[in-house]
Amino acid sequence: MRIIDGKACAQQVKDQIAKEVAEIKANGQRPPRLDIFLVGDRPDSLSYVSSKYKTCKALGMDCEQHLLPATTSESELMVMIDECNRNDDVDAILIQLPLPDHYNSARVLDFIDYRKDADGLHLMNVGLLHLGEPYVMPCTPKGIITLLETNNIEVAGEHVVMIGRSQLVGEPTAQLLIHSDATVTLCHSRTKNLPEIAHLGDIVITAAGKPDLLKPSDFKDGAVLIDVAMNRVNGKLQGDVYSEATRPELEKRLSACTPVPGGVGPMTIAMLMQNVLDIYKLRANI
Ligand code: NAP
Repeated sequence: MRIIDGKACAQQVKDQIAKEVAEIKANGQRPPRLDIFLVGDRPDSLSYVSSKYKTCKALGMDCEQHLLPATTSESELMVMIDECNRNDDVDAILIQLPLPDHYNSARVLDFIDYRKDADGLHLMNVGLLHLGEPYVMPCTPKGIITLLETNNIEVAGEHVVMIGRSQLVGEPTAQLLIHSDATVTLCHSRTKNLPEIAHLGDIVITAAGKPDLLKPSDFKDGAVLIDVAMNRVNGKLQGDVYSEATRPELEKRLSACTPVPGGVGPMTIAMLMQNVLDIYKLRANI
């Protein structure tokens, strides 16, 4: 079984971004800039924002963090987003999710200028993706597609079983695969006979957030597993299928698999950085 190394792939993407940003600066132009809004002080959100900020800076891009108290009202946040929408020096805007309960997240996300939508979650970007003409792609789905491409795993004509239908992962990944000519079965919590369906998959992508969702024997011989999930069990990260315990059996069954950690996870932040650079280039007509 080939281990699909997301860490190495993400590093390659980031190296290329750093090179392009250095060239932009060498040409006397300002670097791409991402503005991040975080409302509240959830420790996990603070840590995600900090890692996005540090990665931006490490690649030579500008990043502004707007760390706002949980008491910030939706309309106050909208005013600040509007300023970023109008500011020509801001290329991309990201709202760290989840927002506090008193927010209407969809309304806030749709308030971003869709051409500056770093996460690709604006209704317009969702629609364009469905039409097969994506402007900005959501980061995790884009990371999954990039991992498949860079590992020469053909999806055209293959049966992909996508487990999970969230707006963040499952649903947009299924759409991207359909537009890449895969035959896609989209499963969710009400799907009956999940193991039987998984067994039909040439490629199975799990994004349910349920440890031990499937057993190694549920896969057909030679299948590819992309395990997106990040479940913390007894203090350790594992996927919906992949864990240190299941790996020996998976090795006998699968032709390739993403590990957890080190598979899809590192790709998500690399794709965010790619989105920021791509938006900058689209805005600057480069
Ligand atoms: P989510 O919003 O909770 O969605 C989970 C999806 O899985 C839902 O569509 C749900 O079905 C489905 N599901 C739940 N239990 C199921 C079951 N027993 N059988 C089949 N389907 C089931 O989660 P998410 O945001 O998409 O994230 C999913 C996982 O990916 C989580 O572990 C998360 O930590 C991880 N994740 C990883 C990355 C990364 O960078 N690697 C990024 C984002 C998320 P219903 O629609 O019917 O409820």
